[in-house]
Amino acid sequence: MNGIAKMLLFLCPHCDELLKVPEAYLGQRGRCNKCGGRIALIGDANLATPQAASIVADETATDPRLGPPKPASDKQLDYLRALGAPEQTLRGLDRDQASALIDELKEKRQRGEPPTEKQLTYLKHLGATERQLGRVRSKADATRLIEDLHLSPTADQIKRLKALGASGAHLAALKSKAAADALIEELSDP
Ligand SMILES: [Zn+2]
Repeated sequence: MNGIAKMLLFLCPHCDELLKVPEAYLGQRGRCNKCGGRIALIGDANLATPQAASIVADETATDPRLGPPKPASDKQLDYLRALGAPEQTLRGLDRDQASALIDELKEKRQRGEPPTEKQLTYLKHLGATERQLGRVRSKADATRLIEDLHLSPTADQIKRLKALGASGAHLAALKSKAAADALIEELSDP
């Protein structure tokens, strides 16, 4: 043991649980210990307040380390019942199917629900602009913006920004896909 490991904060994209994870897990794939959904932990460990986002890991990707499909866990089944899944849909589910069903039901529910205080506080902490926050109308919107604040700007965004006349300094300072969106918006404004 060499002292206390730096902990990162993640919101599970499947169930919105706030997870605390040792920094060493950054960049790895795994499962949420509440809902069992597959997640990939991404972000910047060098931030003053360490935190990062988890994204939904590709459910179709086969990871040889995971082995053959395991049956859905009791936690997943409980969670699915809480989401209102009928009992007959729960029979014979494997973990990935359960996770996909959780996502589906969550997404449906999240589109109709306002963002939580936890999500909004986290978004402000991550540097979402007022304008971006103003557009967050549902839990699903908040989840998406949290991901975008942790992903790198895309090649397309950089191309657009160059076309809009963004300076090299501007481009170098861009930290995320969401920040690139905000700058594109700013520069496109008449
Ligand atoms: Zn979860």
